Amino acid sequence: MDYVARAITMDGFVRIYAANTTELVAEAAKIHGCSATAAAALGRTLTATAMIGAMIKDEDTSVTVQIDGGGSIGKICTVTDGSAFVRGYCINPLADLPTKANGHLDVGGIVGTDGHLGIIKDYGMKEPYVGHVELVSGEIAEDFTKYFAESEQTPSAVGLGVLVDKDLSIKSAGGYIIQLLPGATEEHIEDIEKSLAAFGSVTEAIEKGMTPEEIAESLMSDHSMFFYDNVDTGYFCPCSKERMERALIAIGKKDLQEIIDTDGHAELKCHFCRRSFDFSKEQLTEILARIK
Ligand SMILES: [Zn+2]
Repeated sequence: MDYVARAITMDGFVRIYAANTTELVAEAAKIHGCSATAAAALGRTLTATAMIGAMIKDEDTSVTVQIDGGGSIGKICTVTDGSAFVRGYCINPLADLPTKANGHLDVGGIVGTDGHLGIIKDYGMKEPYVGHVELVSGEIAEDFTKYFAESEQTPSAVGLGVLVDKDLSIKSAGGYIIQLLPGATEEHIEDIEKSLAAFGSVTEAIEKGMTPEEIAESLMSDHSMFFYDNVDTGYFCPCSKERMERALIAIGKKDLQEIIDTDGHAELKCHFCRRSFDFSKEQLTEILARIK
């Protein structure tokens, strides 16, 4: 089972989240039939979203992340509802590019940099909190780093990785978010920079069999840490025929009547899990009657 480890340094100045999301990203790539590069782009975004979910961990709060950089993958959208379980999609999962000279997938190339990363936190009451930043590189981790610094005033280091095999299976996926809390000193920053330089990539660490706790420890090796309970994560879509009915009700009487008159039935497909739900003429008429 994939999970997020959460820890804080004993002095209380640095918080860290580290996650193994290999199964989660494999599930997402399979559902959407992603190219290698799209699997990395969507997988990195899902991994960050899972860690943000583990940060908030409040059943009344949902978090939606939207990245739209004008590249061939189109918009990427990920969601978590009150936990670290996530779902997501991208407009064009087949978007792909040759690997870069260093052998890395060209995630920034398909995401683009002409646009924003936006996060909507809906606390289930009042107005949702909306924050967004211009994309830095479209490589996702740097873009989240900028988001935390500018939109949440929390200096952070974000690492996200998805390693895709030749047969498009996911070899490893995961990430970390290190955050400086008020009172952190220059020394904390230097310690983190030193560990990050020595650490290498998160996908290599996971491939070597390191657990999220071990990744967190290795990133903060100069400090003793307190670990909170781990938070389970995975790919989960809560859609159902009832939810789809609500979507049909939301389109309104006039349009629903038009569907009944022209097509005579409706097939609604969920963006997140690609399940489809069929509504017969009788069912549509019954829903229409309920709106009246
Ligand atoms: Zn669904």
